[in-house]
Amino acid sequence: MRIILLGPPGCGKGTQAEIICKSFDIPHISTGDILRSNVKRGTEIGLAAKEYMDSGRLVPDKIIIDMIKDRFLEADCKKGFLLDGFPRTIAQAEALDDLLQKMNIFLDYIINIDVPDEEIIDRISKRMSCSNCGEVYNLIFKKPKKEMTCDSCGLKLHQRDDDKEEVIRNRLEVYRKQTAPLIEYYKLKIKNVDGKKNINEVTKDILNILKS
Ligand code: AMP
Repeated sequence: MRIILLGPPGCGKGTQAEIICKSFDIPHISTGDILRSNVKRGTEIGLAAKEYMDSGRLVPDKIIIDMIKDRFLEADCKKGFLLDGFPRTIAQAEALDDLLQKMNIFLDYIINIDVPDEEIIDRISKRMSCSNCGEVYNLIFKKPKKEMTCDSCGLKLHQRDDDKEEVIRNRLEVYRKQTAPLIEYYKLKIKNVDGKKNINEVTKDILNILKS
């Protein structure tokens, strides 16, 4: 199964991606996670990407497309994949089309999780993550068992630099200008899901689409 999960930052893509990938046993490919891991390890990609990420701008297409090309070469992608946070521009979507054509494979589903801006700002400002394992929590919907502590590693949770309110506003603007046009690009295939519902209901709606 090959899936693209689209939607603004903070719409719940990451949480839903993990659930879907577990149920279909496919790898979760998040360009944001790959970039954060590169920043943490101080790689060349990480050094080039950090400034863009900290200010909420998109990392240049070439870096992202090369990263995805490499990721597709890994053996686990033979089972399929779920793309989370990619593509984010029309140029990336065209590069993906090219790549899939060369590999002679097709996308099965493109799902868009829709959430209005004001709700996103409210949600992201309550989002915390573990800098060790990357697990993401929300102080309203997905609270850690112990205050500000990761359930899995027991380390302190922190707010991502790019989850601060002024950066979120910028990320939303970038999303509306550069990523939302993908909804039109994929209009023949895209299925919309109401992301205002709670996590379980959104999962149910997505699974219904994937089983249809
Ligand atoms: P995310 O975790 O998906 O919200 O991504 C965090 C940040 O990584 C974004 O705000 C961008 O700076 C960068 N990023 C992630 N994916 C992409 C992409 N496909 N194209 C460009 N920049 C990206």
